[in-house]
Amino acid sequence: MDLGIKNKVALVAASSRGLGKAIAFKLSREGAKVVICARNKERLFKTGEEIAAETGGVLKAIVADVREKKQVSEMVEQTVKELGTIDILVSNAGGPPSGMADDFGLNDYTDALELNLLSTVNLCYEVIPYMKKKKWGRIINLTSVAAKQPIDSLILSNTARAGVLGFSKSLSNQVAAYGITVNSICPGYTKTERVEELAKSFEESGKGTVKDFYNNIQKNIPAGRLGTPEEIAQAAAFLASEGAGYITGVALQVDGGYIKSSF
Ligand code: NAD
Repeated sequence: MDLGIKNKVALVAASSRGLGKAIAFKLSREGAKVVICARNKERLFKTGEEIAAETGGVLKAIVADVREKKQVSEMVEQTVKELGTIDILVSNAGGPPSGMADDFGLNDYTDALELNLLSTVNLCYEVIPYMKKKKWGRIINLTSVAAKQPIDSLILSNTARAGVLGFSKSLSNQVAAYGITVNSICPGYTKTERVEELAKSFEESGKGTVKDFYNNIQKNIPAGRLGTPEEIAQAAAFLASEGAGYITGVALQVDGGYIKSSF
């Protein structure tokens, strides 16, 4: 299926590994010019080289922390200067620490909101003027199943990510007339390096084996397995496509059936 995004300019935030990297890979394979970002230059540039070598596409790597307004502004400015515009935005960031209400104070909530909500708001504000000018845009905000079905041990994530859904839905109504769609993806448990690291530290802490770690998760997933980063990337690429122009304000769970509610 031709997604109709050849030569579109895509900014994929927080993309040196994991879900962001898989989405950048997919959009590059589909012919988009892709900008990736992360804080760690070495790993970011390695990822950039890996993607460009495989797809042969235009790929720019820009060091930026998505929490830092100035760094994000400069990244957007540089992208527009070198590639002309931004047609597709994928907002993403690392996750906040896990824990229960008693583990955190107000400062922890401030940090989580900055990382997982305000970074998304800021990225959207930065790119929308360019999308409005072209009367075309695709915004995909990466959140989590926790936004729809809170997970007890992830109170910071539950709080910040629900805000992303509210913001995305409101924004989608306000930019739809400009040909801009705004959708969220709520990934379920997906086997990224981060999750593999969590499995290892679970075993190292003596709580059980790596296999136990995965079994504990899988028993709550009707599909009986974790997702792959490529499966999240497929959904993101579809939402970025020309053909998805009438889909907006949606929070799409990609979770093997993990969320129990029917809407
Ligand atoms: P990951 O830790 O493997 O990758 C995160 C990426 O973001 C890395 O490239 C990292 O360098 C970059 N990054 C982190 N903080 C940043 C910042 N402040 N500025 C710029 N770049 C930054 O994580 P992942 O598994 O790919 O998950 C991505 C997001 O999706 C996270 O927020 C995670 O909590 C969420 N999520 C993951 C899963 C899962 O099962 N993997 C499920 C639901 C939600």
